[in-house]
Amino acid sequence: MDYGEKNILVLGAGSSGIGAAWVLAQLHANVVLNDYKPVEFEPSTRKRLEDAGVTIITGRQDNNLLDGVDRIIISPGIALSIPIVQEALHRKIDVVSEVELAYDVCKSPILGVTGTNGKTTTTTLLTQVMESTGLPVKVGGNIGDSLSEAAYHMPEGGYLVAELSSYQLETIKSFCPLGAIVLNVTPDHLARHKTMENYAAAKARIFMNQNPENFVVLNDDDSIVRAMKKDAHSKVLSISQHHKVDSGAYFEGNTCYAVLDGKATPVIDTEHIHIKGSHNIENILAVIALTYALGVEVEHIKHTIEQFHGVEHRLERVTTFHDVTFYNDSKATNTDSVVKALDAFDKPVILLAGGHDKMTPLEDFMNIVKSHTKEVIFMGEAADRFESVAVKMGVQHIHRAQSMKEAVALGYQLAKAGDIVLLSPACSSFDWYSCFEERGEDFKNCVRELEERG
Ligand code: ADP
Repeated sequence: MDYGEKNILVLGAGSSGIGAAWVLAQLHANVVLNDYKPVEFEPSTRKRLEDAGVTIITGRQDNNLLDGVDRIIISPGIALSIPIVQEALHRKIDVVSEVELAYDVCKSPILGVTGTNGKTTTTTLLTQVMESTGLPVKVGGNIGDSLSEAAYHMPEGGYLVAELSSYQLETIKSFCPLGAIVLNVTPDHLARHKTMENYAAAKARIFMNQNPENFVVLNDDDSIVRAMKKDAHSKVLSISQHHKVDSGAYFEGNTCYAVLDGKATPVIDTEHIHIKGSHNIENILAVIALTYALGVEVEHIKHTIEQFHGVEHRLERVTTFHDVTFYNDSKATNTDSVVKALDAFDKPVILLAGGHDKMTPLEDFMNIVKSHTKEVIFMGEAADRFESVAVKMGVQHIHRAQSMKEAVALGYQLAKAGDIVLLSPACSSFDWYSCFEERGEDFKNCVRELEERG
């Protein structure tokens, strides 16, 4: 779309809405930035928006905001079911995500990463591998800055790497990444998407506009993602840890291989990989498959993976004292990522879990908890439900904590030499914290306090 002189309503005054509004103003659109809540902007942010000519309306959201509007740019946190969006759709006004705007303004191709788990880790590693080529690279989306702002500043001849949630993909229109990665689809966000089918369909939108010149990496080890192959119009690159593939990347013995046109090339062995667990091999394979297909040299790919030590709050080793090691996996906000964390250790751990309950089924999860933990400590709003399903599934050694401090102290008290204490909540953090980063920091501080006390 050509945005010049168009009337654009940006819904949601978070970082993506603020970025979108500013970019649209640069494109000479008439922009209204709206949030139903009163928003306290940083004074410099407000000034920047007002100087650019953006009209800010917050604390109300009446339907007359829709009068004369040519397009709505919607922030990922906003559900399509809210009244103003329903009214806009009724009036046949285009409602698109900020990702669509990013695509419209970006002068370089986009590489997009989606999936239930592993997006940030994969996006970060993919960005670093692409940077190793010396070409200009920027990153945005769920991670870091607003994607449309990163796109606006992106020069030609490089790559924009985008971390994309299902919410952002729900409202794309012509968005077409040169390379797309779909890592996995497991239950999460069912409150908004209602069914697994809807949720998987939202993720598959990442490649719906692709053509035979483009690439899509699909995880062959995930049955829902594997089934997407039939809908792809682009070159499919498969990844697997269980079998060889014709094009893409696979893991065999201790080695990750890149494959193009049936020819396999070894890239890296596990002894040079510093991020734990088979889920991280999945993330690495996805990056290898795409970057190799884009022509990045094996040496660059290998060297970057060797230097990569993961992203904070994702199975992050905090410290070891008195032979007890603490891991912070605060970003594990669903059961699948906790299962991956438990699998990454070769012995049962002391697990700290709970938080704001996402109400996904827990029976299968507790079966795995039973065999992979020696003690479990539940906390937060979810503790009652977690405990009752754990008891039903025969989990032993269940404890309760009323605060993070208490949970850490109890974990340490229960530990023997050589044990691992793992925070991997399977819940979002909004009962006690404003975000998972804050929860992870609190955990790390509690651990360090304990360490200092000796
Ligand atoms: P996202 O951005 O999709 O939430 P992250 O990279 O932030 O993904 O990781 C979120 C959580 O999921 C962490 O606990 C991490 O250890 C775990 N994880 C990372 N990669 C995967 C994967 N491929 N499959 C399952 N879990 C994963």
